[in-house]
Amino acid sequence: MTSRLDEARRALKTTFGYDDFRTGQDEVIGAVLDGEDVFAVMPTGSGKSMTYQLPALVEQSLAIVVSPLIALMHDQVQQMRGFGVAAATLNSTIAEAQSRETWRLIRSGDLRLLFVSPERLMMDGLIEALRGAGIRRLAVDEAHCVSQWGHDFRPEYRDLARARQALGDVQTVALTATADKATRADITERLFPAGRRPREFVHSFDRPNIRLTFAPKDNPTRQIERFLRHRRSESGIIYCSSRKRAEQLAEVLAKDGFNALPYHAGLDQGTRMKNQDTFLQEDGVVMTATVAFGMGINKPDVRFVCHADMPSNVEGYYQEIGRAGRDGLPADTLTIYGLDDMALRRRQIDEKEVPDERRRVERRKLEAMIALCEGATCRRQSLLGYFGEASEACGRCDLCRSGVSLVDGTVHAQKLLSAIVRTGQRFGAAYVCDVVQGKESEAIRRNGHGELKTFGVGADKPVAAWRAMLRQLFASGAVAENGDGYGGLSLTDKGEAILFGREAVQFRPDPEPRAAEARERRR
Ligand code: ADP
Ligand code: ZN
Repeated sequence: MTSRLDEARRALKTTFGYDDFRTGQDEVIGAVLDGEDVFAVMPTGSGKSMTYQLPALVEQSLAIVVSPLIALMHDQVQQMRGFGVAAATLNSTIAEAQSRETWRLIRSGDLRLLFVSPERLMMDGLIEALRGAGIRRLAVDEAHCVSQWGHDFRPEYRDLARARQALGDVQTVALTATADKATRADITERLFPAGRRPREFVHSFDRPNIRLTFAPKDNPTRQIERFLRHRRSESGIIYCSSRKRAEQLAEVLAKDGFNALPYHAGLDQGTRMKNQDTFLQEDGVVMTATVAFGMGINKPDVRFVCHADMPSNVEGYYQEIGRAGRDGLPADTLTIYGLDDMALRRRQIDEKEVPDERRRVERRKLEAMIALCEGATCRRQSLLGYFGEASEACGRCDLCRSGVSLVDGTVHAQKLLSAIVRTGQRFGAAYVCDVVQGKESEAIRRNGHGELKTFGVGADKPVAAWRAMLRQLFASGAVAENGDGYGGLSLTDKGEAILFGREAVQFRPDPEPRAAEARERRR
């Protein structure tokens, strides 16, 4: 017999294309399917909407979804229809004919989600009409708006208790991303019937046993070997951005004496299953994998997760590192990122055949990932902040431990930007840094760039320091690829503003690889 939670998992796959629930989702969905009143506090991006979407699909029932912003509702309806879910909204901007169609769907029992604002819900007989149509539940999105203690109180939300009552005390699911204790108590008080306490789920994204470390890409294979040196007998996952890289790394590590196995969608089913089973059943196996690996895998004692290349967004990054330390014991992570990763990810998004709106979203998400990599304050704080959760500095991440401080770098930036301009905005990062550092390479001689005024203006710093600064200029959007397909760099408007002294720049010095190693040994 399959449970309804299994049906929900199946609908997650068939309707939305996702392989498994995110942490916490299944619990909440289970309670919703059991008919309980639910109050769930889960960070933004954790997939709260699934907690009313999937039950409506599984039960073929109708849910009223209250959310505060009409503009947002419209997006949600479009998004649901994109997945083939019958969704609609009723508000004053909707044309007569469209409302008639919505009512037809409500009456025939074919509508799954009806999005309305709280004001609309209380207007001219809507509740009475809905009551006759068999509403299964009321979902209240952004439930913190009910409370004056919350950060976004809306008086209209105060009427929701009355609406719930008028609907015949239907099951109520309240959702929010931000609510401290006092706000939660207030929401419960105001939204749910006095004798009927909801089941409360408060899901924090904090995983204090997972240590976060980021490192600029230098020699990735060597960086990974260094990271693994003290972890010979531990199980872990190394995420790579390509299948080829996953295979290659498995070979290198195997030669190095590790029990390393590749996993990616290009391997035949048999090999894939065999490698996965080995990882699950044996100790000390290192999986070198693409993001295809990990969904639904629950191995409690994964001791480390390493990203050999920069992930494409923070949600993905969080999911992947979250596979470490499920047993609650200390686990380690290392994320290696470089200018090439950022360029590749940006290009992938530009070239994707998706609507512009989607592209904008992906770009925003990528920029958040880049900002996390190039950040100057506690990694945990930045990560949890991304999910809307306030926290203390962890004291254990690379930035907390190395006590980084930003230094003014406007003059250095100008040297790099000027070298890009004077070489014709045609060359890649390595070349530009060589020019600034004054390295007499064959190519530089051939192009006559040894004669430039900027040649060797940065001879006082090692080339690695210049690369670190150029990478940060690229990350901040002062420099971009020029589109020649060879990684040539050019200045953006922001880059020009810096070059001409209208904007200042701060850099975060990269850690010395040797210092990082020494820290690692002291661990
Ligand atoms: P929230 O309301 O918690 O901020 P959403 O419900 O808008 O988050 O979900 C954020 C994104 O995550 C959406 O694009 C959604 O489709 C996606 N998502 C939800 N559940 C899953 C899942 N189990 N696996 C992968 N993606 C998911
Ligand atoms: Zn920290």
